[in-house]
Amino acid sequence: MALQQISSFAAGQWVAPGAGARTIASAITGAPIASAGNDALDVLAMLDHARNTGGPALRKLGFHDRARMIKALGQALTARKQELYAASFDTGATQSDHLIDIDGGIGTMFVFASKGRREMPDGQVYLDGEVEQLSRNGTFLGQHVCTPLQGVAVHINAFNFPVWGMLEKLAPTLLAGVPSIVKPATNSCYVTELAVRIMLEADILPAGALQLVSGGLGHMLDHLGCQDVVSFTGSADTALKLRSNPVILQNGVRFVAEQDSLNASILGPDAEPGTPEFDLFIKEVAREMTTKAGQKCTAIRRIMAPQSRVEAVIEALSARLSKTVIGDPRDEATRMGALVSNGQKADVLAKAAIIGQEAEQVFTMKPDLTGELANGAFVPPMLFHCADPDRAQRVHDTEAFGPVSTIMGYRDIDHAVALANRGGGSLVTSLITHDADVARDVVMGAGAWHGRIYINNRDSMKESTGHGSPLPHMVHGGPGRAGGGEEMGGVRGVKHYMQRTAVQGSPEMLTRIGGKWVPGATEVAGPAHPFTRRYDELSIGETLNTAARTVTMDDIEHFAHFTGDTFYAHMDDAAAKRNPFFPGRVAHGYLLLSFAAGLFVEPNEGPVLANTGLDGLRFMKPVSAGDSIKVRLSVKAKTRRTDEYGEVRWHVTLTNQDDEQVAEYDLLTMNAY
Ligand code: NAP
Repeated sequence: MALQQISSFAAGQWVAPGAGARTIASAITGAPIASAGNDALDVLAMLDHARNTGGPALRKLGFHDRARMIKALGQALTARKQELYAASFDTGATQSDHLIDIDGGIGTMFVFASKGRREMPDGQVYLDGEVEQLSRNGTFLGQHVCTPLQGVAVHINAFNFPVWGMLEKLAPTLLAGVPSIVKPATNSCYVTELAVRIMLEADILPAGALQLVSGGLGHMLDHLGCQDVVSFTGSADTALKLRSNPVILQNGVRFVAEQDSLNASILGPDAEPGTPEFDLFIKEVAREMTTKAGQKCTAIRRIMAPQSRVEAVIEALSARLSKTVIGDPRDEATRMGALVSNGQKADVLAKAAIIGQEAEQVFTMKPDLTGELANGAFVPPMLFHCADPDRAQRVHDTEAFGPVSTIMGYRDIDHAVALANRGGGSLVTSLITHDADVARDVVMGAGAWHGRIYINNRDSMKESTGHGSPLPHMVHGGPGRAGGGEEMGGVRGVKHYMQRTAVQGSPEMLTRIGGKWVPGATEVAGPAHPFTRRYDELSIGETLNTAARTVTMDDIEHFAHFTGDTFYAHMDDAAAKRNPFFPGRVAHGYLLLSFAAGLFVEPNEGPVLANTGLDGLRFMKPVSAGDSIKVRLSVKAKTRRTDEYGEVRWHVTLTNQDDEQVAEYDLLTMNAY
């Protein structure tokens, strides 16, 4: 059969395999199926195309424009996901593995698209945190801002998730406004190539935003600079080699690494056999060992159980694992497919032999594989028991990247934590317990060593997402052995592709730069009441100053009895005086808010559709009967939400007759365009 020609997409052209191409074999049959790589690939032209064509085009857009593009890419992939499933079987993955890789990858795109529109501004500058008050009178302030890096992100991915691995990096990168060059692992690059073709054929991205290297990267890394990022997923050995590249070190190139990890799962001391937690633990461990045939960076490699329950766990786990149907992933009855290649199989067996020097194999099975499957990269689940985990070393540092795991007993929860931490830094540790004190001890003892701690029990198990699933909302990465990197985690992940800059200047400067009005900047008097003006007519800084209203004792009495809020500070002068905050009876804060609304609203039907909330409300000075208040209402920021209306954030300050601030908040309204 002719080999599939897996191309690269370089500087706007598809480049077929050429000199130096590697042959890729099917994981299921071991037969050659594809060829990828070309030594003649012009990596300098690719970098130039990304930096000088893709980057400028992406940076012209705002976060919301790019979020919409990411959503459209997700939709394009969804429409053709059957093709991706069909291509993925040859990697050894089953249909349920495809759901993690392909549907999980697309889902990640949708989450970033939605977070981009909900949590990032409808503009080009991301404001990181609030304005910092650097001067007494507020004429000199500070604001951290994030702007897109002006280089290229080189994404080097592992073989195990050819789609998710690409998309979980691509979504935050595009959202940041940075072009990317994707280099999938060669063993499964035919799936990634198809996903890239689907995205490019959908014609959503500007030229230069996405390029692909199928096969070797050549000398690309030798030409990176401080505006570029390498985001690597793979083994610790490769990460070390790549991050030690002198050019990367010398030029301070950002290098994010997600490496291998000796993840642990701890059965809580409370989880006796017969409890929902014990059964849940067995289920989670078995699932982690067999999903993707154990080729998950987050899979459970070390199983920790109270010493007295080790036997029970081995028994229950063996019973469950023995039901694993191993075979052709295209067969619906199959629960576990093959490793990605026979090379990977040899590596896993060699690593299992190393673990076997310190631990006894207590479970395995012989899969029944005949015909063309006999040459596939199938490995059965292998469970080891390490009787002396304190003295052992290799069980804590050897990652067999397949369905291999080692159980070890612990004396008490501190011992379990110490064993979990012997992994030298991991992506995830899980704990199955119904005891919140145990959970707190584990987080305090193990938090610093693990990027994620997954706690599960009878209360959360129905809706829990699984030990091994990195979620786009949550940070993925871990210290030490896990690479010291961090990806995703919502907007945090986008910031890895941006530079944070501390900008200092006057309120006017900060308002113009951030697109968000800062108190002290120019107040623009609009041509009419701002509530009569449509979303698009309102300008940032447009301000209404209201008339004053005097607050009377009758108002306070009336409000107290009308609402039922007869708190002593509003009702009892002597008691209020004994309180360190009040000069005597004072007006309710909510009365002041209500009066403020009465002062600034324009009552007639108009473009303001609804008040959707208040943010950052502070009462700064009490208001007594006889004081008067007035309001300043300024347009602080605007964000388009739907085709019909957008959100207006108004900065509101209430001042008294002496111009002292008594309250401050942001008011949110939805306004028609
Ligand atoms: P790998 O051998 O380290 O390869 C990872 C990537 O690096 C591949 O794309 C590979 O390309 C590329 N690469 C290797 N040498 C290179 C070089 N000199 N220059 C440029 N690129 C180079 O890892 P793998 O076997 O694909 O993946 C398995 C490992 O990944 C496991 O250890 C697993 O724990 C880890 N992993 C970690 C995570 C995580 O999120 N932390 C996720 C998945 C997997 P070629 O294929 O072309 O050699």
